[in-house]
Amino acid sequence: MLNCYVHSDRESVGACVGCGKFICQECCTEVNGKVYCKSCIQNKLNEQEEGGKDWLLALLLSIFLGGLGIHRFYVGKIGTGILQLITFGGCGIWALIDIILIATGKFTDSNGNLLQKR
Ligand SMILES: [Zn+2]
Ligand SMILES: [Zn+2]
Repeated sequence: MLNCYVHSDRESVGACVGCGKFICQECCTEVNGKVYCKSCIQNKLNEQEEGGKDWLLALLLSIFLGGLGIHRFYVGKIGTGILQLITFGGCGIWALIDIILIATGKFTDSNGNLLQKR
């Protein structure tokens, strides 16, 4: 077994799935059953922040096109988006609820992340 790339005197417990470097117990962080080194975890967190869907755009879509479920397509909730499209936003009521949820910052994307206010 190779040693950790940070601590050359420590035995590695696995390889980072992000960069492939061997890391020791102290250096590894497990996310969803995968092992990452500290620098890759940081990159991952940064990506998630940047990758968040835009709150203002979702709000505008829900106001102007809410009856068609376009804002749900935008955040990746395709299934309920289609349902909204067929039902014309639950006769407007569902679309209205979504506008309120988005406006109050409670609406999440398909990954469960809150929308980003830029
Ligand atoms: Zn890494
Ligand atoms: Zn280490």
